Amino acid sequence: MGLLRNSICAMALSLFAASAGNAATLLEPTLHLKPQGAEGGGRVALTLDACGGKTDTRILSALVDNRIPATIFVTGIWLKRNAEAVEIMRAHPDLFELENHGGRHIPAVDTPRKIYGIRSAGSPGAVQAEVESGAAALAGAGGQAPKWFRGATAEYSPSAIAMIRKLGFKIAGFSVNGDGGSLLGAKETARRIGAAKDGDVIIAHINQPTHAAGEGVVQGLLALKQKGMTFVRLDDAEGIGNDGTTD
Ligand SMILES: [Zn+2]
Repeated sequence: MGLLRNSICAMALSLFAASAGNAATLLEPTLHLKPQGAEGGGRVALTLDACGGKTDTRILSALVDNRIPATIFVTGIWLKRNAEAVEIMRAHPDLFELENHGGRHIPAVDTPRKIYGIRSAGSPGAVQAEVESGAAALAGAGGQAPKWFRGATAEYSPSAIAMIRKLGFKIAGFSVNGDGGSLLGAKETARRIGAAKDGDVIIAHINQPTHAAGEGVVQGLLALKQKGMTFVRLDDAEGIGNDGTTD
């Protein structure tokens, strides 16, 4: 009798454990800069993901021409195919900070599932491989070792967050979704980015040169600049994330 009850308990526990690992527990952490307050016109951090594909030269040229600093999250895949853009970024170390967006653009979720149609890493070992191969790709391309990681889709399982922190990286959330995964129109993208406030961390994409969103990214950034907003890279400011991503 006792044995039966124990095995029913064990079964209930394993069912609970299985459901605890599902959809409900994915996190999309936020990141803010410490606000400046009344001192200046405010400051924001622009972060741009280079997931794969090509380079949006509309954005890259606008950043160089207007001297707007940015933190670029690059994957190993993107680094391999965009040597020319990497060279331009490396030639402006005062503007561009390159950080880790993973080796193969695989979501840092250690249980098997799909996020926005992309298959997750699916195991702790695969999350670690994604993080470490992204860092290795950056090291291979020269420049400083990355200190920040942002996983594909910017969603994580809590245990993956803990592992990435143990590997020595801070995790880059955001507070303004500038381009909706580069799928928004130019007007809406410009509106969202142009509305950023002191302390915001903006996310957008620099790898979709054919999308209308890229035009909106440029317009939004120029509007912020005109308002007197200062742009900083993640390494230049104190970023405060939730869900244990920076502390
Ligand atoms: Zn991405």
